[in-house]
Amino acid sequence: MAIIKTTDLDKLDFDSAINELKEYFDSLGARKGRVLTYNVLTYGCQLNESDSEKLSGMLASMGLTQSKGGELDDADVIVFNTCSIRENADRHLFGNLGVFKTLKKNDRDVVIAVGGCMMKVPENVEKVKKSYPYVDLVFDPQQLHKFPVLMRDAIRKNKQLVNITADDYIAEDSFFPIDRKRKFRALVPIMYGCNNFCTYCIVPYARGRERSRDFNEIVAELASLAADGYKEVMLLGQNVNSYKGEDGKTFADILRAASDFKEFSRVRFMSSHPKDLSNEVIDIMAERPNVEKHLHLAMQSGSDKVLKDMNRPYTIDRFLEIADYFRTKVEGGSLTTDIIVGFPGETDEDFEETLVAVNKAKFDAAFTFQYSARPGTKAASYPDQIPADVVTERFGRLTELTNRYAEESNARLAGKTMEVLIEGISKAGDMTFSGRTITNHLVNFTIPEELGIEIGPDYLEGRLCEVRIERARPYSVDGVLVSLKGE
Ligand code: SAM
Ligand code: SF4
Repeated sequence: MAIIKTTDLDKLDFDSAINELKEYFDSLGARKGRVLTYNVLTYGCQLNESDSEKLSGMLASMGLTQSKGGELDDADVIVFNTCSIRENADRHLFGNLGVFKTLKKNDRDVVIAVGGCMMKVPENVEKVKKSYPYVDLVFDPQQLHKFPVLMRDAIRKNKQLVNITADDYIAEDSFFPIDRKRKFRALVPIMYGCNNFCTYCIVPYARGRERSRDFNEIVAELASLAADGYKEVMLLGQNVNSYKGEDGKTFADILRAASDFKEFSRVRFMSSHPKDLSNEVIDIMAERPNVEKHLHLAMQSGSDKVLKDMNRPYTIDRFLEIADYFRTKVEGGSLTTDIIVGFPGETDEDFEETLVAVNKAKFDAAFTFQYSARPGTKAASYPDQIPADVVTERFGRLTELTNRYAEESNARLAGKTMEVLIEGISKAGDMTFSGRTITNHLVNFTIPEELGIEIGPDYLEGRLCEVRIERARPYSVDGVLVSLKGE
């Protein structure tokens, strides 16, 4: 396995494949008498969202427009960007792929591609080969920059093309046309892959070894995002704190560089690992007004024994020490986490220790997961797997507790007036707007008519406003807009 940086030659191939595909789709569209469309179906985390923005950008450069139909199969090019973390992800994918058999039979020109983390698991690739021969292309997340070349070759050969590699590539964002989903938020991966090998996790196998992007490239991208009017940047990596740039540049340097752009009202980042998070990063969060006052720090378990079995190299005391430092330094900040229930060998006592740790950390929100064995990971072969009914019972008790703290966190906002970055309008069509505070609390709010605010076709997306919080709910708060900033 090697880490390979893309070259100018790769870029030439990339551009020429895109041009060739554009000609192909233009003439196919002319034959069919309509503009051809694409649909990228995204599962999983923000890194997958970021990859999908690149896939969409590439497809748009090929002259395709995004399908508006909302149906899975309502497009001429369909790309699945899969995730192998979520439970039932495989049932989801294979269930959906079955739908495309008839579509492909009725229209041989439709292109179906499957990529993402699930395609790094050999069993899944074999299953696509054997049971879904009408899938045109299988590719892996490490080779996103080869997607146009592979798609062109699959269409030319008119035969299923499977291209999975053991090498880890690193292509800078400047390589890609990116179609950002949100006009105010830019996802900026700063590193790819993971070296931590937590024993339950498929990510190091699916996403390869850790590799950091070039510091100057990242800063150049941030500068162009600031110039383009983006209000929020989200720095992404499986473990951003282990970023290693040239000349010893660290994640703290990136955070400082990003927050130096005053155009950004919010600088966010995901995820942090307790073994690498430095006090320096927390100090920057406290000092710099546009760095979000929200830390997502996965605890996973409250038992030192389980943490050790998970290959998470910290103790629960160390975790709580970081939590304390954050709470003391970043006043009013929110601390969120990931917790796994039912890891192999987890005893009742271990689980009780998790509840004790939750009671100490008082997380503002928690993503709770039932352990699910991922083929290929170390823990999948551990002998003492926990029976499903025990996992379900523990999971119920844990979520009841974490929900209580989440609700308390929301309740603390009631009566306050807070700055909110507007994300959009509710799908219910009742003119309820939503947005987030700098602590990442979700706020739903209305706009009193007497304020005479002109709403416009973009529903104020990306604007900052002040909202008076009136009521707390379990996962959000309700409020009323007081004023729109920049008016
Ligand atoms: N790199 C991030 C970190 O360590 O904080 C986490 C990334 S992972 C995509 C998100 C979460 O999924 C993990 O923190 C873990 O709680 C959960 N997860 C991963 N593999 C799992 C598994 N096999 N069963 C249950 N939950 C899992
Ligand atoms: Fe998975 Fe652990 Fe890496 Fe997070 S740090 S991606 S949980 S292996």
